[in-house]
Amino acid sequence: MQAVFQPHETQAETARLVDLYARQRAAFNAQPFPGVVSRLRRLASLREVLLKHRSNLNAAISADFGHRSSHETELLEFFPSLAGIKHASAKLDKWMKPKRRGVSIWFMPASNRVVPQPLGVVGIIVPWNYPLFLAIGPLTAAIAAGNRAILKISEYTPRFGEALRLALREAFDEDEVAVLNGGVEVAQAFAACAWDHLLFTGSTGVGKQVMRAAADNLTPVTLELGGKSPTIVHADFPIDTAAERILHGKCLNAGQTCVAPDYVFLPEGKQEAFTEAARAIVAKWYPDAGKNPDYTAVVNGRHLARLQGYLRDAEAKGAKVVPLADIDPATGKLAPTLVFGVTDEMSLMQDEIFGPILPVLGYQRLDEVIGYINARPRPLALYYFDYDNSRISHMLGATISGGVGINETMMHVGQDDLPFGGVGPSGMGHYHGHEGFETFSKMKPVFAQSRINGLWLMRPPYGPRVEKLLKFMLR
Ligand code: NAD
Repeated sequence: MQAVFQPHETQAETARLVDLYARQRAAFNAQPFPGVVSRLRRLASLREVLLKHRSNLNAAISADFGHRSSHETELLEFFPSLAGIKHASAKLDKWMKPKRRGVSIWFMPASNRVVPQPLGVVGIIVPWNYPLFLAIGPLTAAIAAGNRAILKISEYTPRFGEALRLALREAFDEDEVAVLNGGVEVAQAFAACAWDHLLFTGSTGVGKQVMRAAADNLTPVTLELGGKSPTIVHADFPIDTAAERILHGKCLNAGQTCVAPDYVFLPEGKQEAFTEAARAIVAKWYPDAGKNPDYTAVVNGRHLARLQGYLRDAEAKGAKVVPLADIDPATGKLAPTLVFGVTDEMSLMQDEIFGPILPVLGYQRLDEVIGYINARPRPLALYYFDYDNSRISHMLGATISGGVGINETMMHVGQDDLPFGGVGPSGMGHYHGHEGFETFSKMKPVFAQSRINGLWLMRPPYGPRVEKLLKFMLR
């Protein structure tokens, strides 16, 4: 559901933004370097409040979606959020410690170190598809790094937004962490604020607008965007296993995942076996898929119509559409669907699909596939199914993507100790784990001169002394 906000609500939320921003800025100025104990306390409060509100946040997401599998909300939103908090809490002391750096002989015996410092007041813009994890993941990194944060929740998940606002108010003063709801106008005002850092998760198109707005304040941005993530199966890889792992990535959240496999390249001759395997898997996972609570709905009528439009367009241009289940569209769900014989002229091969539709392309040589991928915008994820290490190395070196899954889809996102982020049109910057901490910190280099040192040798008046020195320095 997309909430329609009345002008007075938009005005009120925009005014709240101005007020919250000023309060957070004043609070940060009063306490610019929260210590490890207070950061750990904030992380623990965040964890507690998520556990306490687990069922109402879960129900709110489902209501916003029409239907979201509650198990998927627990597996894909609560679990990674809580695991991320646990990881940050365990590592925080180490992350916060200044790190010694080397000093070259010319500056000895001075010392160098890098001191992580909170940036200040940060903004986090959240999309609708995983509204909890994509709010709590960045918030965890922001808090761990000692910042204050305001979150802007998507207009597509208003029930969740309100539930999160109420939950976080129990754990935090709004001058520490606050939640804003409201429509696109509020989001636009949000992007135009002079944040110390802005993390945006959403589409590539809106990401460009956000970066433009941020440029006016020279606000540093992390852009977590989308795109078409390719999947390639090598001829030697068991097709049933590949089908199961690819379908899993495509069916979770009904394919409404930034890193869902967008389309798959199969070796010529494997298409029938893949279709049979996919049909059996969907029948096993989602009997009576329309009513099956494990299968999530498409978020709203607009997105359902968009996805149905892709199928109509592809069929009209000669593709073969193979639904893997029989679902009444009135349920708001769309069956997992394979599409064969796709071409670049079809809209589903131009846009990020973001739904349970999987175009299947054939190939004969891996180089063709690599050429195809490299001729297109750099993807957020790439999945390669193969057990041969030299071919895996070749694939890793020949393509560039935000992240890679070997013989699995999507699970790289859930690794606390791996950075997450796109490249080029799929995003810039990283978060999760230590990289998240660094993203929201100023990693401040500090040079400390020693009491006795030789720098006077380089000072004017220049003459034979400096010239002799330069002979050594410029060798
Ligand atoms: P979207 O870009 O439409 O909206 C994202 C957020 O931006 C929403 O909160 C919205 O209110 C806000 N927004 C809209 N217009 C804005 C503007 N002009 N200025 C500032 N903010 C604005 O994306 P969506 O439909 O919510 O999410 C789907 C997209 O997000 C897909 O492309 C998907 O791949 C991507 N995504 C990426 C990741 C990732 O981690 N890389 C994760 C989830 C989703």
